[in-house]
Amino acid sequence: MRKNTACVHAGTIKCKDFPGVTSPIYTSSAWGFIDPEDKPYYPRYFNVPNHDAAAEKLCALENGEQGLVFGSGMAAITTTLLTFLEQGNHAIFQNGLYGGTIHHITTDLPKFGIDYSFVDARNTEAIEEAIRPETKILYIETPSNPLLTITDIEAVAAIAGKHKLLTLIDNTFATPINQNPMDLGMDMVLHSGTKFLGGHNDMSAGAVVSRKELIEKIHESALTLGGSLDANACYLLERSLKTLSLRVQRQNENAMKIAAFLSEHEKVDNVYYPGLETHPGHEIAKRQMKGFGGMLSFELKGDRRDVRNFLISLKLIGPAMSLGGVETIVCVPADTSHVYLSPEEREVLGIKDQLIRVSVGIEDADDLIADLEKAF
Ligand SMILES: *Cc1c(COP(=O)(O)O)cnc(C)c1O
Repeated sequence: MRKNTACVHAGTIKCKDFPGVTSPIYTSSAWGFIDPEDKPYYPRYFNVPNHDAAAEKLCALENGEQGLVFGSGMAAITTTLLTFLEQGNHAIFQNGLYGGTIHHITTDLPKFGIDYSFVDARNTEAIEEAIRPETKILYIETPSNPLLTITDIEAVAAIAGKHKLLTLIDNTFATPINQNPMDLGMDMVLHSGTKFLGGHNDMSAGAVVSRKELIEKIHESALTLGGSLDANACYLLERSLKTLSLRVQRQNENAMKIAAFLSEHEKVDNVYYPGLETHPGHEIAKRQMKGFGGMLSFELKGDRRDVRNFLISLKLIGPAMSLGGVETIVCVPADTSHVYLSPEEREVLGIKDQLIRVSVGIEDADDLIADLEKAF
C-alpha cells in the first residue's frame, strides 16, 4: 500500500460477525484463558486487537516491521532507552532534544549508572569524538524543537553503522508522511502520538517502530514498565491516522506560506523553517524529507512586553502548549518548553526570549496570515 492508502486501510480489524468498515473496539481487560499454551491477552501486554491495529498502521507508514503503541510519547521514549541501556553503558544524544527527554536523560539515567554526552549532531566529527568503547546508543531528533535544526540522518546512520551503535530518532516533528528514517538507516523511530499522529489536540499517545527483533526486546521491558494505551485511545489513534496524510499536506503548505509571509515582515527578525532556502539545513531537509512540516518559529522584534502583547492580540491563533493539531497554536519556548533552562543555557541553544514557535494547523492560510498581521 502507498501512504495515502495505508493511512486509511492498514491495520483495520475485520470483524466476521459484524462487517463494519471500521475497526471494532475491544474494551475487555479480562480475556478467556484456560490452557497455559494459549496466548494471554491483556491491555498491559500491548497485544489487544486495538493496540495491534494502531501499531500495524504506524508500521505501514514508517516502513517498519513491528511497532508498539504507548500511553504517551515519553512512555515510548523512556521504555525504549531503558530497554537497551544498562549499567556501564554510554549514550550519545543530540543537543536540544525535547525537554522531557532531556530531563529523563539527566535525572534518570545516572541512577542506573548510565553515562551520556550531548553533541551538536550537525557536526559528524563531534559525534565521532564522543564515541567511547562503551557507547551503545546514538539518539537524534530532526527537525528539532524549537529552532527546526536539521540533522543529516544518513550521515548519523553511517557513523553508527561503523561503530555498531543502535540509532534512535524522535520523528515527532516530521511525521511519517514527511520523513521515514528507517529508509535512511535508522534502527528505531519514536513518536509522540499526542502531536501530529493524534492531530486534534485531544489525546495522549506514543509509539516506537522498528525491526521485529528490536521491538520484541522493547516489548519485554514494556510489559513491566507498563506504559500501555487503552483500547479506546488506541482506536482514536487509529482513526486519527486515517487523515494524517491529508492533514500533514495542508500543514506543510500552510507553514510554507506563513514562513514566506514572516520572512518579509518588518516586525520579524529571523524565521526558522527548513522549507526556506535561507535555512542552514534546507539542502539536507530537501534530500531527506518529502515535505518540510507544520512547525516553524520566528523572533519578534521588540522585548518581552511586545511578545506578550502580540500573543494576546491574536484572535484565531491561540497561545497554547503542545503542537501538531488541526488548530494553529503558538507558544514562547522561553516561557514553556525551555522555561527550566537558565537564560544563559537558552542563549547557548540560540533560544531568545522573543522566539515564538508556531504549530501550523489546517485552516485557510490567508486567515492565519490575516490574524498574524493584525497582531503585528
Ligand atoms: C511532545 C513531544 C514528546 C513527548 O510526548 P508526550 O506525548 O507529551 O509524552 C517527545 N518528543 C517530541 C519532539 C515532542 O514534541
